[in-house]
Amino acid sequence: MLCGRAMGSEAARLLQAADFAARKHKRQRRRDPEGTPYINHPIGVARILSQEAGVMDIAVLQAALLHDTVEDTDTTSEMEEQFGEEVRRIVEEVTDDKMLPKMERKRLQIERAPHGSQGAKLVKLADKLYNLRDLNRCTPAGWSEQRVQEYFLWASQVVKGLRETSPALEEKLQQLFRERGLPE
Ligand code: NDP
Ligand code: ZN
Repeated sequence: MLCGRAMGSEAARLLQAADFAARKHKRQRRRDPEGTPYINHPIGVARILSQEAGVMDIAVLQAALLHDTVEDTDTTSEMEEQFGEEVRRIVEEVTDDKMLPKMERKRLQIERAPHGSQGAKLVKLADKLYNLRDLNRCTPAGWSEQRVQEYFLWASQVVKGLRETSPALEEKLQQLFRERGLPE
């Protein structure tokens, strides 16, 4: 009985995060030619962590669901109020500073990757895996093949700084990099 109740509260916490993210991203679309609803991405990132990396820590799965809300929407202090300090911290760690130029943000992701918490590293790995699979599935409108290849190269540099976080996800990412002819 206690076990059932505990599981119920975990499901409730996940659904609360999924609902929060869905409302925040409701007007956003992915960059694929079909304009897939943006929420497909954070839900997919959380699913990768749960099913492909075996992550059971609810705070990490909530952070995966919420990982793009601060960067891409008007989300601020509500994050900590609703989901607590641990979730807020992980989301903060994976949030780029939009005041900085794009190239500087990309450089900082490479530089900071090794110094994050385990939760932030897991979310980053799953985020990259989802985005690279999305790019393999179809090329965003206006992207040249060279731009796609440059994105893979940059992602491989970020992922290098996330070693020994999740062997399962790292192996899947390495396979994608090998297919692109990128160095290990
Ligand atoms: P962006 O950073 O502009 O776009 C990639 C991001 O878009 C992903 O990290 C992902 O972030 C999100 N995303 C949304 N939909 C998709 C999808 N279907 N597939 C994959 N990712 C998706 O791309 P670049 O890193 O290539 O560009 C960096 C800067 O350089 C930009 O300012 C760009 O305009 C400029 N530029 C680069 C060129 C190049 O050849 N590299 C050419 C022309 C311009 P999230 O997880 O947050 O959703
Ligand atoms: Zn993302």
